[in-house]
This record gives sequence, C-alpha cells and structure tokens, in this order.
Amino acid sequence: MSECKCFNVMLEKVSENLRGQLPAKEAESLKARWGNEALVMEENSMTLKIGIPVAYEYQKLKKSGEPQKNRTKKEVKLMMSYCPFCGISLKNSGGTR
Ligand SMILES: [Zn+2]
Repeated sequence: MSECKCFNVMLEKVSENLRGQLPAKEAESLKARWGNEALVMEENSMTLKIGIPVAYEYQKLKKSGEPQKNRTKKEVKLMMSYCPFCGISLKNSGGTR
C-alpha cells in the first residue's frame, strides 16, 4: 500500500486520547476503528479505505402506487481523492512514496 499513514496515525492518536479519559482498567479494553471503512478493489489488491457517508432517504411506493409505511433509508460512501490530513493524492497508488 503506497498511501500515507495518516489514517492509522490519527486513529492511534484518537485511541490514546480516549484511553486517557478512562480509568486504567477500562482503558485496556478500548478499541477504536474508523466508522466508515470500505474495502476497495484496486488493481490486484484490496485496500481498506475510509469513505465519507451520505445518508439518504426517500418514500418508496408500493406496486399499487401507495406510499410504504416507512421511509427507505440508505447510505452511500464517497471515496476521498486526497488525504484530509496531509493532502497526498489517494488515487495515485503507483508507489511513489
Ligand atoms: Zn495523509
């Protein structure tokens, strides 16, 4: 994987910070992860990337044309083109770094 390590580094910083807020015995069990991970197929490898979620909902209609009781709620994830922390291009996976 050629992209920067910012996501790992930031996650580690956040984890440390959260651990610091907990009593030591509880902090041991803390696990943090990015909430919007997505597996992305790139060339021949699967990489874990963080997506920006867009939540949407709409009123689905039954075959009869009547609206369904509940609104349909879904989510799509947008992939970032650049690292939000250091600005490196995340699309260029050619291994320049
Ligand atoms: Zn970065």
